[in-house]
Amino acid sequence: MLPSPEIYELWFVYSSGANPAMNKALDEILAKGEKPTNELCLSIYQQHLRENREDERVRTAGDQIKKTIKQVNTAVGAVREFTSDYNHSLEEVHDKLSEDKTKEEISEILGEVLEDTKVMMDQNNHLEELLQESATTMEKLHRDLEIARREALTDALTGLSNRKAFDQEIQRIAQEAAAKGHETFALLMMDIDHFKSFNDTFGHQVGDQVLRLVARTLKEGIKGRDLAARYGGEEFVIVLPDTKIQSALKVAEYLRVNVAKKEVINRQSGERLARITISVGVAEYVKSEPIENLISRADSALYAAKHNGRNQVAVAPVAMSVQAAKV
Ligand code: GH3
Ligand code: MG
Ligand code: MG
Repeated sequence: MLPSPEIYELWFVYSSGANPAMNKALDEILAKGEKPTNELCLSIYQQHLRENREDERVRTAGDQIKKTIKQVNTAVGAVREFTSDYNHSLEEVHDKLSEDKTKEEISEILGEVLEDTKVMMDQNNHLEELLQESATTMEKLHRDLEIARREALTDALTGLSNRKAFDQEIQRIAQEAAAKGHETFALLMMDIDHFKSFNDTFGHQVGDQVLRLVARTLKEGIKGRDLAARYGGEEFVIVLPDTKIQSALKVAEYLRVNVAKKEVINRQSGERLARITISVGVAEYVKSEPIENLISRADSALYAAKHNGRNQVAVAPVAMSVQAAKV
């Protein structure tokens, strides 16, 4: 099989040594005697090369914006200078015409004015074209940057928000809740049960398919301002703004049941694979607690759900100790 452009680029960059972090990741795999499969290589590519590319795109856009602004400034400067010269020559014409002149002389003076006017119009047309072009370039750059920004906040595998987006959003939601005074919100932390053995049995690619399926199921089970994000590997988080613990537990239970209902089917063979389940930890925001504390409480609740047998929802009490709760 021919290597994809991504894999080609990966080994090209590897041999150049230009990306030490990426080389380290690959060296670790090779040292363990693992085979660098296409899937493994692609996931390293995503981590080390794709993210850098986004930075590069933002940098290129920035350079292009600077270049465009400089061009427009130069053109505006030239037109301004020429307009001032043109005004001077008009004043001169005015002076010359106030003296007695023959018909031929007048015609010559007007000829000069016409010539200057023509140059002036050409300059203005040029500036207009340049401004039009610049506006188009800037619009395109704006769109490109918007795409890059969205990609930087999206998890490439599942299409959910990524960890960075979650970190930003939960801070914003906490501030909003604090500003409103009486409002609270809830956090759900979820982790797929026994996912390692699932991967080991069915392969990384089927594992990725499962991650997408779980992501879709979570997304379908929430609404409006609720935010679902991939927190890391096989862990997901959901933030439910303006939601108290009892409602949050209902959502968590609904999501748990919906994930457990899904059948994972091998795309190639059509064979039914094992069911997947998730464990969920739920915590309600306590006024003015640090976000890390809220996350830590939800995480402890998740741990309790795992400890009590998995495929269940546990609630984090306000104090740090956690009890498992069947809903
Ligand atoms: P537990 O029920 O206690 O959560 O057990 P677990 O096996 O799910 O937990 P563990 O943390 O030991 O394993 C997580 C596994 O998730 C390890 C890795 O194989 C898998 N994983 C993490 N990220 C990805 C990914 O992006 N794709 C795939 N296919 N698997 C991943
Ligand atoms: Mg985990
Ligand atoms: Mg797990």
